[in-house]
Order: sequence, then structure tokens, then C-alpha cells
Amino acid sequence: MVDSILCPFCSSTVETVEHIFANCSELIVHWTRIAIWWGVTCPSQLTVDSLFNWADSTSWKIGQRKAFDAVILTTFWCIWNFRNGVIFKADTPKKSLIFDDVVHKSYVWISSRCSKAKISWSSWLHNPINATKMM
Ligand SMILES: [Zn+2]
Repeated sequence: MVDSILCPFCSSTVETVEHIFANCSELIVHWTRIAIWWGVTCPSQLTVDSLFNWADSTSWKIGQRKAFDAVILTTFWCIWNFRNGVIFKADTPKKSLIFDDVVHKSYVWISSRCSKAKISWSSWLHNPINATKMM
């Protein structure tokens, strides 16, 4: 049982999948940071569907698209984990760490799942498109 059905971040609307992952004004900055990190523009309308299909708007190779899709899915996971931390943990997690968590977890997960990739951490941080060009 939760105390409220309102979004735990903005408390201004009922929490829905679309709101929590794509529309919440308190979390939208993370999609902007992903866009800047990868050198792409955010979808014109942020929806869960547009986020899942974001890589389709690029001319990247298939491996780069898969890596970007993994970053998007990792972002969903980190937002959901953060949301659960806010609701259920005594110590409120820091929203400012979500992006760092996405960068780190996506690197670890992609490197673990794709042994041929051999992505360097430095390259992943500074130029993920270049880091994934051999995937
Ligand atoms: Zn909200």
C-alpha cells in the first residue's frame, strides 16, 4: 500500500506510466541529459513509445542503436528504482545521481552482455557513438 496515487516527484498529477517515465517535469531533465550525451535531439513529443523508438530517428549502425536502446531501457530502470526508493526507503535517494547511475549501469550491462564490444570507460563517457561503432 502506498500513501498516495500522486506522482511522488511533482505531486501534481496521478502517477501513470506515461507521466512517471516521459512527462514528469521533475524527471524530464534526464532525457535531455541522455540526448546531450549521445549528441541527438529529444523526440519532439516525449512519450514512452517515442522513447522506445528514439533510435529509429538516427542513422546509426545496428550495434549503436542496440547500445542506445540499452541506455533507454537502463534509464527506465533507474527512474523506476529511484521512484521506489523515494516511496519505500527511509533515506530519500538523490535525483541528481540518476544520470550517473544510467551511465554506469548501461556501461556495465552492455560490456557484460557483448563481450566483443570492448568499450573503454573513457570513450563511453565522452563519445558513446564512437565507443559503440564496432558493435
Ligand atoms: Zn511528476
